Amino acid sequence: MSETLFSKIINREIPADIVYEDDLSLAFRDINPQAPVHLLLIPKKAIATINDLGPDDRELVGHLFVVAAKLAKEMGFDDDGYRTVMNCGANAGQTVFHLHLHLLAGKPFGWPPYTDRMKQA
Ligand code: AMP
Repeated sequence: MSETLFSKIINREIPADIVYEDDLSLAFRDINPQAPVHLLLIPKKAIATINDLGPDDRELVGHLFVVAAKLAKEMGFDDDGYRTVMNCGANAGQTVFHLHLHLLAGKPFGWPPYTDRMKQA
């Protein structure tokens, strides 16, 4: 996989507000936050999209959610609740092709979660 913005953040080639790191993953603040708390949790392994996941990645994806729960507890929004989102491909609006889990918190979120980008007839 070619280098992405997020692999450059992992390699410290570009700066980011990193809030958590371990052997498998990194979490940092989204540069364009959509909520009072907006974190991106990424695997260090270069995986472009959900479509590229294989059986070997089961634990890694689970790990991202375990990190999300840990950060929610540590940052104090676990009881209030929060939203996790993983966009895949064009229709979901994925812009960075390194797998990432959005962790949004600090306000109530509506449902359905999207703005429909299809033009109404
Ligand atoms: P997605 O649209 O799901 O691919 O999400 C990509 C996210 O990356 C967007 O929410 C962007 O605001 C965020 N983003 C892009 N560049 C950076 C950066 N340098 N540091 C932190 N977040 C970024």
